[in-house]
Amino acid sequence: MDISHILNELGEDRSLYFNAVAPPIVQTSNFVFDSFEEIRKAFEDEDSAFLYSRGKNPTIEILRKKLAALDGAEDALVFNSGASAIFAAVLANVGAGDHIVSVDKPYSWAWRMFDNMLPRFHVKTTYVDGTRIENFEKALTPETRIIYLESPNSNTFELQDLEAVAKLARERGILTIIDNSYSTPLHQKPHAFGIDLSLQSATKYLGGHSDTVAGVLTGKKAMLNKIFNEQLLNNGSGISPFNAWLILRGIRTLQLRLEHISATTVKVIEFLKNHSKIERVIFPFDDDFPQISLAKKQMTGACGLFTIVLKAVSHEQIERFTYSLKHFLVAVSWGGHESLILPQAAGMAPGQFDPSVEKHRMARVYVGLENAEYLIRDLDQALSVL
Ligand SMILES: *Cc1c(COP(=O)(O)O)cnc(C)c1O
Repeated sequence: MDISHILNELGEDRSLYFNAVAPPIVQTSNFVFDSFEEIRKAFEDEDSAFLYSRGKNPTIEILRKKLAALDGAEDALVFNSGASAIFAAVLANVGAGDHIVSVDKPYSWAWRMFDNMLPRFHVKTTYVDGTRIENFEKALTPETRIIYLESPNSNTFELQDLEAVAKLARERGILTIIDNSYSTPLHQKPHAFGIDLSLQSATKYLGGHSDTVAGVLTGKKAMLNKIFNEQLLNNGSGISPFNAWLILRGIRTLQLRLEHISATTVKVIEFLKNHSKIERVIFPFDDDFPQISLAKKQMTGACGLFTIVLKAVSHEQIERFTYSLKHFLVAVSWGGHESLILPQAAGMAPGQFDPSVEKHRMARVYVGLENAEYLIRDLDQALSVL
């Protein structure tokens, strides 16, 4: 399906709302029924009719159609955060005694769920270095129900071979789930490689304006219907109509934003790689990235998120560099209009800092919608303090 059609037209029917160009926010909690038969059908399957906005709502419906199509999936569910999309996808598919194999260093709230919450329900998780397929195979047990992936991850960007992992899992009846927040469906379509469930933090690129927290999960209709009924409705973790509307507005410019950011990022990285105060840059689409050939096989591009290793000798020096930047804000998250920086040292007490540990000198950088020259000038002046 043409991306222009998906972003501009799919799922929209203006005859239903006064020919308004922008779809309305259908801000209602409940819907009226004209017959017992209709209400009975809605009770049987809440995803078949508009009954109550914790489940199905017309504004959210438009977004679901677009997000499913972007991923080339049968269906999509939209959650009130990326974290709740992760929770729903996993919880709907495990029970006591089950085992999960997860790629190591997944998103922080995924590992907190695996390590802190699931063990209380007798679900165990084994982490593997996902850069080698044998590691997944070795970690599997007869109780393994889920292989959880994040390719690339959003700090050091290691990839997993999606096609190989999907094949391994299929042969054993194991469900595969991927966190595809980094790439978005514009740069990676996990279902095309046989991955069962693909999720994203819609807070990042889909929303794109740093004003909404949301999550999306795509996959086969039957699986998503189960997750809708068992998780989304029961946890009340669906998105609100207003936030769905903000994500709808955000994705109108998704392609445009990603193209701009991709072009800017290449220029910024080129500058940083040649700077004497930068030891190295970690970016999955860089020629020096160890998994560049796999990246080129399964991704069509990479955007604005990468990591730099600073030639710094102290915690204080990194803090001074960071706050010398005028246009990069010090904040978590990414995917919005504003450029960001988050050094590892920011989360460490000065006494913990050891310059001989490379990780301590890492800083994650996000390039937003500003122009390359504007950002490069800023980095250049701030690096001079090192
Ligand atoms: C932000 C993020 C999440 C969590 O999404 P929220 O919308 O913040 O709940 C999950 N995975 C990755 C890779 C993220 O960057």
